[in-house]
Amino acid sequence: MRTPFVAGNWKMNTNKASAVELARGLAKLSFANVDVGVAPPFVYLDAVGQALAGSRIMLGAQDAYFEKNGAFTGEISCEMLKDLGVKFCLAGHSERRHVLREPSELVAKKAAAIYASGLTLVHCVGETIEQRLANQTLHVIEKQQDELVGDFSDPSRLVVAYEPVWAIGTGHNATDAQAQEVHAFIRKDLARRRNKDWADAVRIVYGGSMKPDNAKGLVEQHDVDGGLIGGASLKVDSFMGIIKAAESKTR
Ligand code: PGA
Repeated sequence: MRTPFVAGNWKMNTNKASAVELARGLAKLSFANVDVGVAPPFVYLDAVGQALAGSRIMLGAQDAYFEKNGAFTGEISCEMLKDLGVKFCLAGHSERRHVLREPSELVAKKAAAIYASGLTLVHCVGETIEQRLANQTLHVIEKQQDELVGDFSDPSRLVVAYEPVWAIGTGHNATDAQAQEVHAFIRKDLARRRNKDWADAVRIVYGGSMKPDNAKGLVEQHDVDGGLIGGASLKVDSFMGIIKAAESKTR
C-alpha cells in the first residue's frame, strides 16, 4: 500500500504575510496516512517553514540548481534548501520546461542532484495538447522518464508527477481514465527501468486543475497516488478537500 502524497505548488504566488497566513492555516489541519507538503516561493521558505514547525506538513521547493555552491548567480542549491528544512523538491515542472525553456539535460541534472542530496524528488512529466492529439503522449512521457539517470534506489524518495500541460491552470483536468492510463504506463516504464517491486512503491501523483470535486475520482484510480496542486492549494479549504480525497483512498 502506497501512502498518498499531496503537495501544493504555490508557484509565483502569495506575499510574505499571505504565505505565512496560509501556512498557519494548514498547520492546524489534521489528517492521517497521507504525506502532505507545500512548495512556496524560495524567498518565503524560511517564514513558511517556521509557520509549519511542529505540524505534519512538509516544506518543499519548486526548483533547485544541480551544483552544490559557487558562482551561479541567482541559483539555489539543494544544500541551501535542506538548511531551511526543505524535504522535497520539484524538477521539470511544465512551466520551467515550457516558459523558462529548461532543456531535458538540465532537468536530468537537477533531478539527480535533488535525489542525491537526500531530498525527495518530485519529477514532473506531461505532454502538450499537440502531442496528445498526435498520439505521442506515452512516447513523450517515456522520453521524459529518460531524465531519471543515476541512483533512485529508495522508492520512498521518488515521486513522479503526471501533469498534462493542457490541464495545468486551465480548469480542464484529465479524466479519471486518461490519468489512470498514463499513470499505469509510467509505472510499467519504471518497472522496466529497475524492477516491479521498486516501481510498485513509487508514488505517481496527478497534477492539472485538480480540485476537491474532481480529486476523489482521480485518486481512486489504482495508479494515482495523490496530487500536485497549483491553484487549489492556495486556499486552506480547497487544499484540505483534496487531502480528504486522498485520505479516503487509504481507508
Ligand atoms: P493547477 O497547477 O492545479 O493550477 O492546474 C498544477 C501544477 O502546475 O502543479
